[in-house]
Formats: sequence, structure tokens, C-alpha cells
Amino acid sequence: MSLELNDVTLTYPDGDGRLTALDRVSLDVPRGSLAAVIGPSGSGKSSLLAVAATLVTPDSGTVTVDGVRTTGLSRGELTRLRRHRIGIVFQQPNLLPSLTAAEQLQVMARIDGRGAAGARPRAMELLDAVGLADRAGRRPHQLSGGQRQRLNIARALMNEPTVLLVDEPTSALDHERGAAVIDLIARLTRRQGTATVLVTHDRAHLGVTDRVYEVHDGRLTSAEADAEADAEAAGAGEPVR
Ligand code: ADP
Ligand code: MG
Repeated sequence: MSLELNDVTLTYPDGDGRLTALDRVSLDVPRGSLAAVIGPSGSGKSSLLAVAATLVTPDSGTVTVDGVRTTGLSRGELTRLRRHRIGIVFQQPNLLPSLTAAEQLQVMARIDGRGAAGARPRAMELLDAVGLADRAGRRPHQLSGGQRQRLNIARALMNEPTVLLVDEPTSALDHERGAAVIDLIARLTRRQGTATVLVTHDRAHLGVTDRVYEVHDGRLTSAEADAEADAEAAGAGEPVR
């Protein structure tokens, strides 16, 4: 199974009225595939991830994670679901300053109630996958910005989540390092079989994604569908003679 948002509407209080952050959004991301969401600042991208992460309950619509419908689950049940099935990468890596790279990952397994025995090998395997095998003993201040973001991604994958949600992971990185982080996310999505949603403002990164969506004023549209419609309108859909 996968990540499924069905007809999700989310509003926030705004003065006397309500601001519609997500307007009847539907999205289906299968495991092992990477969906990119682009859109201007304030269009609803982070709200979409917050709802998908079950951190925010929408006004209406449903979110299904790995076949589990989240509507009506208690706070405790949602917390367990998140720990166990959802990996989240925020814009700024909120790593714990006193822990080494390996410990940042191992602590996630402990939070999820997993035994310590498997945690160390899994942490080392993931550090290797993100190119930090030789930095396992370093603390965050001993890592570069790009390395910290890669560590952040490895940490999100520690508990083998079904769903990986990534919010503008390259905003603090230069173009080259940003591209490397996106490539890494694409590779890990396929290898770990996660249903990944990547929010990015940088169109240059979209080549490695499976599907591209655009969000404007809380409305989500498929960018490929737009491109096809444009191509058809221009007559590009006709066979070449
Ligand atoms: P993006 O990530 O695309 O920049 P957001 O999802 O953060 O957009 O925000 C979408 C809209 O919702 C914006 O108009 C923003 O100001 C508003 N918004 C976001 N979070 C809140 C909140 N907690 N309370 C009220 N309004 C919010
Ligand atoms: Mg945002």
C-alpha cells in the first residue's frame, strides 16, 4: 500500500473568516515512487505534508497511510503510526547536538520501542547509504550543512517507514549539494520502497521524480497532465509524418 489523500480540505482561522490552505486535495503515492510537489511560497505545500504526516487533522477528507485510515484514530494511535510508518524530513535538520551521527539514528529505534540489538547495524547501513559511513562518530557541529541534511534523511528512514515526507530539503544548500540530496532521496525511495512526497521550489530537481504536482492557493494539479494538455493544444499529440 501507499499514501493516499482523498478530497482533503484544510482551513486555518484568519481574522473573522477562514483561510483555505488545502482545497479538496487528492493524491495517491505508491510505494517505491517519488512525487514532487512544487508551488509558490504560501501555496499550501507544508500544510499538505503536515496533513499527510497526520500532524494536522483536515476539516474534511481522508488520509490513508499504508492501508490504515487515520480518521478517528486517537492521539496515541497517531503517534505510534507516525513513529512506525512515517519518516519526516523538515527544512532544517533538528538534530540533537550532543549525539553522534550513529546515535541520532539509534535513538529513533529506541523511541519506536525496538530492541537495541538491530539498531546499530541498521544505523550503520543507513549511514553508508547516505555516504556518511566514515562520519558515524561525528556530532552535528562537526558535519557540513549537506552532511547534516543527509543524516536527517537517514534518520527519517531508521524505522523503515512506508511514507517519507520531505519539505524543501535543499533550501540551505548550494545547487550542486542540493542536486546530490535529491538524487539520494530518489535512490533511497526505490531501494527502501517508500511512498515519498518531496516538496521543492527548485524545478531543476524534477528530472529524478516519478510524478510532479503543482499547488496553487491550496489546489493541487498534476503538472504532467498540464504539459500533455498544452502539447495536445499545440498539436504535438499528432503522429510525426
Ligand atoms: P507553503 O509551504 O507552500 O509556503 P504553507 O502550507 O506553509 O505554504 O501555508 C499555506 C497558507 O496557510 C499560507 O497562507 C499560510 O500563511 C497559512 N498558514 C500556514 N500555517 C498556518 C497556521 N498554523 N495558522 C494559520 N495560517 C497558516
Ligand atoms: Mg513551506
